[in-house]
This record gives sequence, C-alpha cells and structure tokens, in this order.
Amino acid sequence: MIPMERPEALDARDPLARLRERFALPSGVIYLDGNSLGALPIGVSERVAAVVREQWGKGLIHSWNDAGWYDLPMRVGDRIAPLVGAMPGEIVVGDSTSVSLYRVVAAALSLRPDRHIIVTEEGNFPTDLYILEGIKQLRPNLEIRAIERDVDPASALEGAAALVLTHVDYKTGLVRDMKRLSTAAHQAGALAVWDLSHSTGVLELDLHGGGADFAVGCGYKYLNGGPGAPSFTWAAPAVVADARQPLSGWFGHRDPFAFDATYAPAPGVRRFITGTQQVLSLVALDEALKVWEGVSMRHVRAKSMAQTERFIERVESGIAESGGGEGELRLVSPRDPAVRGGHVSFAHANGYAIVQALIAEGVIGDFRAPDLMRFGFSPLYLSFAEIDRAADALVQIIATRSWDRPRFTKRRVVT
Ligand SMILES: *Cc1c(COP(=O)(O)O)cnc(C)c1O
Repeated sequence: MIPMERPEALDARDPLARLRERFALPSGVIYLDGNSLGALPIGVSERVAAVVREQWGKGLIHSWNDAGWYDLPMRVGDRIAPLVGAMPGEIVVGDSTSVSLYRVVAAALSLRPDRHIIVTEEGNFPTDLYILEGIKQLRPNLEIRAIERDVDPASALEGAAALVLTHVDYKTGLVRDMKRLSTAAHQAGALAVWDLSHSTGVLELDLHGGGADFAVGCGYKYLNGGPGAPSFTWAAPAVVADARQPLSGWFGHRDPFAFDATYAPAPGVRRFITGTQQVLSLVALDEALKVWEGVSMRHVRAKSMAQTERFIERVESGIAESGGGEGELRLVSPRDPAVRGGHVSFAHANGYAIVQALIAEGVIGDFRAPDLMRFGFSPLYLSFAEIDRAADALVQIIATRSWDRPRFTKRRVVT
C-alpha cells in the first residue's frame, strides 16, 4: 500500500482550512455529524440576540419594513443560489423541507393534470415518502411508484407526472445523476423534482445545467442554519409562472396587504411561501450563510472527496492490520468518490454501541437503524488530522470491543 501523506501537509495546503475559525465548535470534539445538524457559525448567536433585542424589542411592528423582515425569504434564498447553481431571485426560504416538498410536488402534479403517477424510490428519506402519501390522500387516484434500490428510476417513468428523488441518499451517500434522470423524466413527459438536503453545501450543484424543474433542500445540515432551520425551494424559470401550490397562504399572495378575498400567487418563486415567515430562524440562517461568501464549491467538493476517501482507507486498513472485526465491518457507501456524497456509512451489527463509544471519546457520528454508522464530513470545519484521529478511534473501539458495555448499548430516542 502507498503510505498516506501526512495530514499536517494536507491541512497546510487546504484552501478551506481558514474557515474552521468561523465555527464555535467545543474543544476536544471531532464533529462528524454536520450532515445532520451543522455546527454553529460564530456570529449567529450575536445576530439573533441583536434582532430580538433591537428589531423586535424596539422596532416592533415597524421592523417588517424598516429591518427588511418582509424580504428575508428571498434575500436568504439569494445567499443559497450560488451554492446550487441557481440565479438570484430563484430561491425562496421557509418552513421545513417536508412542507416545501409537499408544495413543489403538488405544483408539479398541477402542471401535469392528465397524469397520475409519481415515481420515487422506496429507500428515499422517510419524510419524503410520507409527504407523497399525504398528497395521495387528497388525490386517491394517484399512484406512487416507489422503485426498489437497484432499479434505475429512468426505467419506471412511463406515464409519470413527476420523478421525485433525493440527490444524495441519506443512508448510503450515493449520488444520483441529476442530469441523466431529469432528462429521462422530460423525455417521458414528467417533471423532475429533487430533494437536495444531503447535497447542498457539500457537492457542486447545477440546477440549471442539471435540468431540474423543482428542488428543495435543508437549512440545518451542511448550511449550518441551526436546529429546525428553514428549508429552501427553487423552481425553474420555465415552470414557475404556471406553478400553483396548494398551501396558498397570504404571504405567497401577490399583494398580502391588499387583503383580497381571493388568492393570486406572487410572481416567481415567492408564491411558494405560505404564512408568516420564521423571522428569527431566517436571521440565523442568513448569518450562517455568510461563511460561504467567496468559497468555491469546487474546493469544497474536492476536500470532501479527499476526506471521505482518506477515512475509508484508514478505517479499512486499520481494521485489517488489527486483525479484529474484519468481515463484521462493511462499507455501505459507494467506493467510487465520484458517486459518493459528503458522508460515509459503514454497517456493523453493533453499530449503535460503537457510535456511542466513539461519542464518549469526543468523535460524534450518528447511527441509522438497523445497523448503519454514519459519518458526515463538513469540509468547512474539518481538518485532515481530525479525519485520522476519528478513523483511528473507530478502529480501536472495534478491535478492542470497548463498545461492549451496558452504557453504550442502551438506546436513546434520537440516534
Ligand atoms: C434532512 C432531510 C429532510 C429534512 O426534512 P425536514 O422536514 O426539514 O425535517 C428531508 N429530506 C431529506 C432527504 C433529508 O435528508
């Protein structure tokens, strides 16, 4: 085996290394869960506190105009646009990803009134499947064609109104080919709806070049917007003017303060807002997104691939050398970095306890039932030295079976 380059050398020439100091991570923690809840960027606490104290406390109702609260969903969207290959004015931010997905899928269906099939995959993130089920409740003739893991979604599109997929699989990290699948959807007469929750902020994305019609994504993962941060919605210029979404609330109205009795959608993507936006959450996300100013997504993706690659190699070679646990640990993520997203999953029958033992050593990953250990690598705040320490800790815990203690095996609610 070719010896690995020293991590210090990699860190020294990492163009993103300087961003680490923009985050308030506790010392002694190696945080490999930024794909689940991003770390706290410095400045967010102060900004939120100032908005509460000054804009709410003193500005009161006038802050809707004077502090720009009204435009926040679009302004925050403009910060996300360059990360996903969208243009200014094409993204609106608000509500959870689940709600945003409901709105765009329903809008896609309304653009294909003669069709009654949604193609998705059974391994999709559960909330995405639950949302589709909820849409079906209102449209009992809708068929939800959830394909099995190894079936090519392109082969199941006949008669479909929409293809609804997650770009990076939350379990395995597999990256879907947005362009190929969107094109296949269009050839079949369907619209392409993408959930970018596990891709935004870690992959190079190109919504325009990728041929997507609608996209939604999560604000609290690699975007670091904080727990329950609002999600984003993008609609292609070609479809947005005719898109109608069913959660037609007053803030998505063309003129909310006219108090018209009938709904008329705002022009552009703003129509995907429902009610009054979550101002404090939007402010937190707005501040968190400042970290991305001047950051090249090409650098982010290159570092992410290098880090996931190094982690896999170091874990697998460490286990092989220790002679313990080999065969019990199985890489579930793709080996090819080109189709692997920002996280790495290993399966192990004792995965839950192993993750707990790692957390006790300050290495924070997570566990997804039944047996997946998931490690997310946020290139903005992780060093190569930390990758090595985390991999070595994992090898050590497996090789010595130090996970095999009651305090690590007892399950808690959030895993
Ligand atoms: C994280 C994630 C979500 C989150 O949904 P919320 O409603 O914002 O909690 C949705 N879909 C996917 C694919 C995700 O990874």
